[in-house]
Amino acid sequence: MVQCVHTVKELRNILKPLKAQGKTVGLVPTMGALHPGHATLISQSSKQNDITVVSVFVNPTQFGPNEDFDAYPRTLDNDLKVVEGAGGDIVFAPSPKEMYPSEDMTWVEVTGNITKVLCGKTRPIHFRGVATVVSKLFNIVAPTKAYFGQKDAQQVEVLKRMVKDMFFDLELVVVPIAREQSGLARSSRNTYLSDEEKSQATVLCAALNLALESFKSGNNDLESIINITKQKISSSEIADIEYVECYGLPGLYELKDKIQAPSLLAVAVRFGNTRLIDNIILE
Ligand code: AMP
Repeated sequence: MVQCVHTVKELRNILKPLKAQGKTVGLVPTMGALHPGHATLISQSSKQNDITVVSVFVNPTQFGPNEDFDAYPRTLDNDLKVVEGAGGDIVFAPSPKEMYPSEDMTWVEVTGNITKVLCGKTRPIHFRGVATVVSKLFNIVAPTKAYFGQKDAQQVEVLKRMVKDMFFDLELVVVPIAREQSGLARSSRNTYLSDEEKSQATVLCAALNLALESFKSGNNDLESIINITKQKISSSEIADIEYVECYGLPGLYELKDKIQAPSLLAVAVRFGNTRLIDNIILE
C-alpha cells in the first residue's frame, strides 16, 4: 500500500529508521497528473532502490505569471494508483506553504547559457524555480538516486550542473522519453489538446526522427538540420513554432556551423493554446 504524506516532518520520520537500516532511497520528483511516462521513472526507481519516494507538487515558483499554474491538472487520487501500479512506496504531496514556509525566499539558480537558451528564453524564471524546489526535495529526502526524464532535456542538463556545483551526494538517473504509439511524447499537458491537435502534434516526433536520419546519413550542417526539422513541423498548418534549436552536450554549448555528436535537437511548438516540447539526441 502506498503511503501518502503531506509534511516534511512526517516524511523524515518515515525515512529515518529505513535509512538507519541501510535501505537505499530513490526519489522521483513530479508535478502529478501522472501518466505512463512518469510510471517508467517510478518503476525504474523501484527496481534500483529499496524505497521509492514520488513527490507530487505543482511548484508555483517555476511558472511565469502568464503560464498555466492554476489550470495545471491536479489528480492526486489517480496519482496514488499510478505510483502503486509502478511499484512506488511513498507519495510526498506537500502544500505550497509547506515547501515555501516564509515569504522571503532562498533561491538556487544555475546561471549561464544552460538556462538562457531553449525554454530559458521565454521562461526566464522557470529553471530557478526548478533548481530551488529540486534542491529542497534533495535536502528533505536525501535520496541515493534521483530520477528525471529526458523529455525535459534542458532540465536534466541544469540539474546535472546543480548536483555537481552544490556537491549533492546522489546519483542523477536519466530515463528515456516515453511516447504514445503515435510517437507523441507523453506529457501531463497533452490533456489540454483536442483530438485534432493531438493528431497534428505527432509531427514533432516525425520531424526529430527525420533530422536524426539525415544526421546519421552524414549531414552535420547545423542550418540544414534545423531547416529539415522546421519544414517538417510546418507541414502541420496549426503548428506554431517557438523554437527549433540544437546545442552540444553536455552542458548545451553553442555549436558553430557543424553539429558534433552528441548534440541535443530540441523543439517547442504550440498547438492551439498548448505548448509542447520534444527533443532527440543526435549521436
Ligand atoms: P513533470 O510532472 O512534468 O514535472 O515530470 C516529472 C518527471 O517526469 C520529469 O523528470 C519529467 O522529465 C518526467 N517525464 C514527464 N514526461 C515524460 C515522458 N514522456 N518520458 C519520460 N519522462 C517523462
